[in-house]
Amino acid sequence: MMENQYNDRCKDFDENYKRIAEDIEKAAEKAGKSPESITLLAATKTVPAEVIRHAVERGITCVGENRVQELLEKYDNLSALSCDLQFIGRLQTNKVKYLVHKVSCIQSVDSLKLASEISRLCVREKAHMNVLVEVNIGREESKGGILPEELPEFIDQLREQPGITVRGLMAIPPDCEDKSRLFQYFSSMRQYYVDIAAKKLDNVFMDCLSMGMSSDFSAAIECGSTMVRVGSALFGKRK
Ligand SMILES: *Cc1c(COP(=O)(O)O)cnc(C)c1O
Repeated sequence: MMENQYNDRCKDFDENYKRIAEDIEKAAEKAGKSPESITLLAATKTVPAEVIRHAVERGITCVGENRVQELLEKYDNLSALSCDLQFIGRLQTNKVKYLVHKVSCIQSVDSLKLASEISRLCVREKAHMNVLVEVNIGREESKGGILPEELPEFIDQLREQPGITVRGLMAIPPDCEDKSRLFQYFSSMRQYYVDIAAKKLDNVFMDCLSMGMSSDFSAAIECGSTMVRVGSALFGKRK
């Protein structure tokens, strides 16, 4: 056993976590919310399970992986931790089977084909899956997500699917030099989220607005995010 192999990374995490928790608190205050109402999801791609365990011992309650293969490799370690495990990456339909009964939420649902497969497997495996609808808020070819104007119809289709429950929206906005553009993207997301919630649809719960990453989580919270997904700012730059 190499107990000290990850000592430096764990120390870095402790410092980063303290600072990020303070930033979240400040941003929540600006948004008129309690810091406890914001979930900090630790985005743990490339982070060794030992370091994730340390993070959970320090107070991280929610962990997100974004590659199926990596999640499976770490799964035995992750499932032993008392934290919520979610899937945040792009997902091929043929890999859904690896996530059922393993993660509580798939944040990247952006096609009926994907949603139907999650539903089919959940019914077959007597499982349930929470899903977020990913929105391509910047209309970027390179990113997943449905276009904002497709949201109402898409959500209507999802709520018919057994075994899955729509819990909210997720977005990854374009890299913005211009901070006011970034605020516009986040604010639009917040508006879609509020508009859908106002419809009070059966089987649709808008209780998670997942937006904001290392470089922009404070702005996202100020605009109404309820969950930020932070990787490199917590664990250091990925190689
Ligand atoms: C990696 C990742 C993050 C975290 O990115 P950082 O910039 O390292 O904070 C958030 N969301 C998704 C979907 C990711 O893949």
